[in-house]
Amino acid sequence: MNNFSNIAVIGVGIVGASIAFHLARRGAKVTLINAGESGKKSAIQPATAVSFAWMNARDKNPRHYHLFNRRSLDMWARFVGWGGELRWASTDDGAREIVERAGVLQSWGYPIRLLSGEEVEALEPRLRPGVVTAASYTDIEGHADTGAVVGACVERLKEWGADIFFQTRVTDLARSGLDITAVVTDRGEIACDAVVLAGGADTAALAAMADIDVPVYYTFGCTILTESVPPVFENVSVVHSPRDCPPQTNFRQLPNGSVMLHGGAHGRVYDGGSLGQSDEEVQRVVDAVARVLPAIEGVRVREVRRGRRPIPKDGHPILGFAQQVPNLYLSVTHSGVTLAPLIGECAAIEILDGAQIDFLARYRLERF
Ligand SMILES: Cc1cc2nc3c(=O)[nH]c(=O)nc-3n(C[C@H](O)[C@H](O)[C@H](O)COP(=O)(O)OP(=O)(O)OC[C@H]3O[C@@H](n4cnc5c(N)ncnc54)[C@H](O)[C@@H]3O)c2cc1C
Repeated sequence: MNNFSNIAVIGVGIVGASIAFHLARRGAKVTLINAGESGKKSAIQPATAVSFAWMNARDKNPRHYHLFNRRSLDMWARFVGWGGELRWASTDDGAREIVERAGVLQSWGYPIRLLSGEEVEALEPRLRPGVVTAASYTDIEGHADTGAVVGACVERLKEWGADIFFQTRVTDLARSGLDITAVVTDRGEIACDAVVLAGGADTAALAAMADIDVPVYYTFGCTILTESVPPVFENVSVVHSPRDCPPQTNFRQLPNGSVMLHGGAHGRVYDGGSLGQSDEEVQRVVDAVARVLPAIEGVRVREVRRGRRPIPKDGHPILGFAQQVPNLYLSVTHSGVTLAPLIGECAAIEILDGAQIDFLARYRLERF
């Protein structure tokens, strides 16, 4: 059993919010600290605000990481638009990829099934998929309203008496011996007996304040929101356009009718100088989606959200106490929307009960 009861959580994206929620629910005194500009939109937003927020275990490998995502997916209950994910291919190579992946996922017990072109059109009559050489549908997937989830966690944390410091930037971590004793911010010091780092793409910089090297990089990503249109889907909640016909796009409709598009030039390292995805690239994504979803043809883009995806060096989460700093808990991951419920629950068990969860063993910092 740890003696941690006064815990500072740095970063209130979906991962930090979930961890804080689970800690406070168990009775811990929690202080939330988040930089960020409440009410103002900055050019680069936290990953959670930008996220496409597809909750899935479809493209997660190897099997242990697939199961980790599946477990978290099964924990989502509220704030979620279920309906499943649909994708198709237009070439023979693309068809092979879909069929092979469906076979692997089925052998892992994941409910994915293959569809014909006619079945795709019957499932979603407003799609114009063109040539369909293979298609798949995973009906247990969905998407989340990340703003609502984080907002609900923060509201509940307020009710439970958490201290909340927004627009507060952490500048250092004060230490005595190996342990952190206080979080130093631009508004003063906050004493604590344990610290959770959930700073997304900035986690490496935060960990460096405790002389810890966390191998996380980030890529630039954006999501594009259209003006509201009447309902475009009958059944599914997330669609991936053919991966064999660039540009690859994903799209989903939000409850307010806006269609969220995600795609374009991904995988770039953000260099601090450029926002990456140019207006021309944004337009390419819009045009590509309009070809298969005519309902958005000519519809105005209302907003483009740009942010960074935090990605640990091997693509898998980094979770748990850092060996060199025993009261510093690290939590950084891609697919943080899918994984937030499970990470929050596991972190609270490890922080408050002193337990070591066996299925997190692969995700420790020390593997690097
Ligand atoms: C375009 C895009 C699409 C994505 N699509 C999906 C998807 O479909 N499904 C999925 O599961 N995941 C997706 N992801 C990934 C997912 O969004 C992230 O893994 C998740 O949001 C990370 O959440 P987080 O809480 O760790 O980080 P963030 O949301 O980035 O939050 C970190 C917080 O830490 C704060 N912070 C940082 N440094 C400091 C400091 N020094 N002091 C105080 N506060 C600080 C920041 O202000 C920020 O609020 C996507 C990401 C992007 C960018």
